[in-house]
Amino acid sequence: MEERLIAKFAERFGAEQAEKMSEAVSFASRVHCNQKRDDGTPFVSHPLTVSSYLLDMGMDAPTVIAGVLHDTVEDGDNVQITDIEKMFGKEVAFLVDGVTKLTKSGKQTYITKKQEQTENLRKLFLAIAEDVRVVIIKLADRLHNMRTLDVCSPQKQAKKAKETLEVYAPLAHRFGMGAIRSELEDLSFRYLMPEEYASIKAQVDVQQKERLELLSSAMEQMKTLLKEANIEGSISGRPKHLYSSYRKMQRNNCTLHELYDLIAIRIIVDTVTDCYAALGVIHATWKPLPGRFKDYIAMPKPNLYRSLHTTVMDARGIPFEVQIRTKEMHATAEYGIAAHWMYKEGRKSMTELDRKTSWLRQVLEAEETTEDSKEFVDNILKDFLGEYVFVLTPKGEIIDLPVGSTPLDFAYRIHTNIGHHCQHARVNGNVVRLDYKLKTNDVVEIITSNSQAGPSRDWLAIVKTQSAKNKIRQWFKHENREENIQRGREMLEETAKRHAQSLAILMKPEYYNEVLKRHNFTSLDDLYSSIGFGGISAGQVLHKLIDLHRKDERLDAMQKKLGEAGSEALKRPLHRANPKGVYVLGDPGMAVFFGNCCNPLPGDPIIGYVTRGRGVSVHRTDCKNVQTLMQEEDRIIEVEWAVDARTDFSATIRVFIEDQPGSLLEVSKVLLGLNVNMTDLSSRSTDDGYAAMEITCTVASSEQLSTIISNLKKLRQVVDVFRV
Ligand code: MN
Repeated sequence: MEERLIAKFAERFGAEQAEKMSEAVSFASRVHCNQKRDDGTPFVSHPLTVSSYLLDMGMDAPTVIAGVLHDTVEDGDNVQITDIEKMFGKEVAFLVDGVTKLTKSGKQTYITKKQEQTENLRKLFLAIAEDVRVVIIKLADRLHNMRTLDVCSPQKQAKKAKETLEVYAPLAHRFGMGAIRSELEDLSFRYLMPEEYASIKAQVDVQQKERLELLSSAMEQMKTLLKEANIEGSISGRPKHLYSSYRKMQRNNCTLHELYDLIAIRIIVDTVTDCYAALGVIHATWKPLPGRFKDYIAMPKPNLYRSLHTTVMDARGIPFEVQIRTKEMHATAEYGIAAHWMYKEGRKSMTELDRKTSWLRQVLEAEETTEDSKEFVDNILKDFLGEYVFVLTPKGEIIDLPVGSTPLDFAYRIHTNIGHHCQHARVNGNVVRLDYKLKTNDVVEIITSNSQAGPSRDWLAIVKTQSAKNKIRQWFKHENREENIQRGREMLEETAKRHAQSLAILMKPEYYNEVLKRHNFTSLDDLYSSIGFGGISAGQVLHKLIDLHRKDERLDAMQKKLGEAGSEALKRPLHRANPKGVYVLGDPGMAVFFGNCCNPLPGDPIIGYVTRGRGVSVHRTDCKNVQTLMQEEDRIIEVEWAVDARTDFSATIRVFIEDQPGSLLEVSKVLLGLNVNMTDLSSRSTDDGYAAMEITCTVASSEQLSTIISNLKKLRQVVDVFRV
């Protein structure tokens, strides 16, 4: 075994590296010489097998060597990590240390064992965050242990299987290592629930065979169709793994027979273009089921998974799933993060690794202004681990929560009542604010109190998870309608005051009935109550009312204007919410500034992005930078134009006009008539009797600009007008 392993290693990495490898192999053999595995074979076969897995996965030399050495410090007498560093260098030593558990602490009680497990996981997670290769070694290690678990005692089997299902399979999933995840899950399933496993396996074996036969003609036809379309591709029937089928049955409370994705047809092609072309061929021939098409190529999953999924129906009405992807996407789906090493050589321009580093660059840029270096690092790590954070209960159970979650989300995840009665929280032993953003590795402890009557309304703004939000709302909804109505009324009043609006003017039946109708409320109390428990925001209601009122007002103003012929009527003496004319929903006092990229005008659809320290930058939703900013969903914030935005916005229009005396005057008249202030005007004659004018003027909104443009276009002399 050793010779084969070393030879294969030498073939990949050359003789010089192979020297190190054989040193590692003989060192491990020496350290483990008196140890046996549970089946009686020499222990060293284990690290050698783990190492061979890593080699097969395409990992680099230090990782493969670390695989050989991974148990020498933990299980060897008197081997220190410093010894490894002296012999094999810092890199290998770091990887070995990363997978090595902390040394056992004296006498073991149940409590200390649990604490130790927590500490070990914490250490492992930290090491993974520092070098992702640690998780790959750890998973290869676990995979071999699970594959050889049948010789262990039932107690050990159950313990290992449970840990695998709770920790290692999810880890594999987060890092996109689908093949390892499936195998770990199925093996755990087999040891934890042997009866269910056996029964499902027997059924699946039969049904998958049936299903494959049913689909064989479809697969044949697919082959022909792809060939005709000149798409190179391989087609195979892929059975779903057992545990996921079992979970799905539990979740949907159905029988195996009802799972129509028991088998998927997988098409592997050469290029992304071929993926979509193949999809076209499939949809042209078989009817797709609505709502089942997923484009994970354009929108990869957080764990890097990319593929096209669709479910179609064959001629007999049997639905089947089709997955279409390139070879490289397939490798990523199976090996996840490990595929980066596999494709290191000869990879195309946009490989997973490139994409990952470009993504990292984006995070770096966004974090540039962060002063706190710890926060900086935390954010990178958090994002690197994907969209979830892993936190631990004091008992060492892992809870995964979306990035940005708070101790309150954690409390509600554990139990609704723990959430409702949460008084304060401790993270890693220190009391934290309830809006503290949880980080991976945090150990979270919730302190409840029965004197805490229930959740606070402020919590709605703090919690990140929808489920916690819903639980809080439910509480308010049921607990006290009277109080909600009262509270809702107050909230609407406060909001109106903040925007210097008068409810006496706005709360007319012709306005609020419109709002009631739109939200299916039957009474005004319903509306107040909903505001009270947070079902609808006071700001939302206020702005609808203002909108309706404005329409009225505009009619008035036009009538006045017709009467007086004066131009002052269009200037509404309304309060200005913010010097920029934009306010942030929920925090109207927040400083805003405009992105230089898209110069939004009032009326343009806009969104805000919370920068670090400079307030909120406002962009048009169609701005090309928004796409990038959207990746940090946490920082995207809703902003709205103040209804009374009467700030000076500069806009430039270009007017093509007949070049003759009086033309300029006509244009000026239109602008004056609309009460528009010109700040700059230039004009030059063209050769063919026309003039091109550029007018910079001050406008209040894109709507006003459109009015200007359309009025100018009505002039006889004008040929064309457009926004520059
Ligand atoms: Mn091991």
